[in-house]
Amino acid sequence: MIIIMRAGAPKAHAERIVQEIETFKLTPVPMFGVERTVIAVIGDERNLSINQLEAFPGVEKVMRVLKPYKLVSRETKKEKTVITVNGVKIGHEKVVAAMAGPCSVESEEQMEEVCSKLQKLGIKLLRGGAYKPRTGPYSFQGLGPEGLDIMRRAADRHGMAVITEVLDIRDIDEVAAKADILQIGTRNMQNYALLKEVGKIQKPIMLKRGMNSTIEEWLLAAEYILANGNPNVILCERGIRTFEDATRNTLAIDAVPLVKELSHLPVIIDPTHGTGKKSLIEPMTKAGIAAGADGFIIEVHPNPEAALSDAQQQITPKEFATLLKNCKVIAQAVNKEIK
Ligand code: PEP
Ligand code: MN
Repeated sequence: MIIIMRAGAPKAHAERIVQEIETFKLTPVPMFGVERTVIAVIGDERNLSINQLEAFPGVEKVMRVLKPYKLVSRETKKEKTVITVNGVKIGHEKVVAAMAGPCSVESEEQMEEVCSKLQKLGIKLLRGGAYKPRTGPYSFQGLGPEGLDIMRRAADRHGMAVITEVLDIRDIDEVAAKADILQIGTRNMQNYALLKEVGKIQKPIMLKRGMNSTIEEWLLAAEYILANGNPNVILCERGIRTFEDATRNTLAIDAVPLVKELSHLPVIIDPTHGTGKKSLIEPMTKAGIAAGADGFIIEVHPNPEAALSDAQQQITPKEFATLLKNCKVIAQAVNKEIK
């Protein structure tokens, strides 16, 4: 951290900051210039608050040198985190993990139909929402516990693992008992109480990027989970809100290579929620794979027109089969295989 004192600030002000830094067991290195003093801080500055230091008399500006997150950072851990679920090595340099399934779990028949088709396509990771975070309270809210059971049974019949959203701290145990990966949705990315609780279990957590969150806020949200003891976090770029209204969200493909520079955690993309438009799903999946995504999650419904949520953006198993075939070539081009 670098602390810049105001021009002409008395020496006593700088000395007060030096004392303050020392109480944190860090090493202040003051440099007294002709006009102003600059104080460098050596040591892990993450416990220091910029706002607090800037409130001291004589301080003009405080700048961080280190990133505010630690455990998720590449600086802390050089090798990539690989999370193996149902034999799929998520985060492995040669793997693109494929996750697919409907937006919501609706019935036994729906899940059976979609799973039998996905199984034929070699899909090992089944998505589906039992608890749905809907924008309006009158929209379909998901089948809850019954949905979890339906999904678990369908997945077991077809040798698949389950990824599903947990909306509420009170449901964590129940969801963790039935699911293989717990999803934290975009609306809950900054629900710190929930993040802390899923940090206390060991099941993998897929953390979606908040639709209004910066990459730094997203990585700090992941840091909450790791800091509470769960190292198994998969990040998912699902699109952010921009001024553009031709698509549902703007899928930030650049987040994929950038987050991979900053963090060792696997990063996948959600081109379904990222665009909200069927015709854009395949091209954006290709773009994500080309940009280095460790996987993708796509909404596939046996009969999208009749879907109880997100009908406009779900594709059929047949369309998904074509997408998979066309994406294989891109995966090969970046020396990976879709698993
Ligand atoms: C979902 O995956 O079904 C979902 C609700 O996603 P998001 O949190 O990205 O909107
Ligand atoms: Mn959805």
